[in-house]
Amino acid sequence: MQMRNIAIIAHVDHGKTTLVDELLKQSGTYRENQKVAERVMDSNDLEKERGITILAKATSVVWKDVRINIVDTPGHADFGGEVERILNMVDGAIVLVDAAEGPMPQTKFVVGKALKVGLKPIVAINKVDRQDARIHEVVDEVFDLFANLDATEEQLDFPILYGSGRNGWFSTSPEGGEAEGMKPLFDLVLRHVEPPHVEQDAPFRMIGTLLEANPFLGRVVTGRITSGSVKTNQTIKVLDQDGKVVDQGRVSKLLAFRGLERTAIDVGEAGDIVAIAGLTKGTVAETFCALEVTEPLHAQPIDPPTVTMTF
Ligand code: GDP
Repeated sequence: MQMRNIAIIAHVDHGKTTLVDELLKQSGTYRENQKVAERVMDSNDLEKERGITILAKATSVVWKDVRINIVDTPGHADFGGEVERILNMVDGAIVLVDAAEGPMPQTKFVVGKALKVGLKPIVAINKVDRQDARIHEVVDEVFDLFANLDATEEQLDFPILYGSGRNGWFSTSPEGGEAEGMKPLFDLVLRHVEPPHVEQDAPFRMIGTLLEANPFLGRVVTGRITSGSVKTNQTIKVLDQDGKVVDQGRVSKLLAFRGLERTAIDVGEAGDIVAIAGLTKGTVAETFCALEVTEPLHAQPIDPPTVTMTF
């Protein structure tokens, strides 16, 4: 299946959760009779209630037969190494900005990292329905922000969409295109974001990106598969950054982001973002790989302390 991996970068309250809910709805990722869970990305209560893991930090929708994995980025500088690793899993980003508030200082850090790893963000000016929206000024502020962060010409030439996540639409024009809903946003993601550069026919390799202590599955490591595929029950190993084998074990559970839940899958394919349970030592920045692999993937240096994510 074709794929796109993107990050959403937004200041708190600029409308990320509402936007992702709407993307899930309009892509038909929710089944007709399935109640749309509110607050997809803050679903801890729901998670406790149902005793299953609902992903808190990523989601995926299918649009025109392309799977779009949408990864959330922590917005704070304390998550330094984490942010960089997450951004290395994706090939594009949506910078979502409130049309009245404009870009906030706290998002500068993440935007800076995104530009540094070479992403060419899409800028989405949200909440244009607000009475106090200052749409054109805010676009200028985003441009200045990018320029101050040493964006390249290409990055400064960002595509812009305007809209209202809450009202379910984004358009190339601020005057709106409610009739088109989220289609312009989906289509722009498919057009503007490159598919993951991966080797399908090579042995399995993946850099550990997020580490989590899962109450049901134990140690779980999430990452994007760089090459090959991995199967449930396959025996894999972990190489540290010097290429030393630090762990070997069986994949007891393989999970992928499907809609608002993480679900068990049998095979994870190159390009997809998956979570692996079953190994006891492998960690972030290390290479999870097939037994025949001897060279680790190049990983971003880790800024200690390593943050443990709980999904
Ligand atoms: P998050 O913190 O970025 O996930 O933001 P939320 O999605 O929780 O939204 C924060 C607040 O902004 C909520 O009260 C939303 O109802 C509101 N909001 C979201 N989208 C829009 C919009 O398009 N227009 C307006 N006026 N408000 C919105």
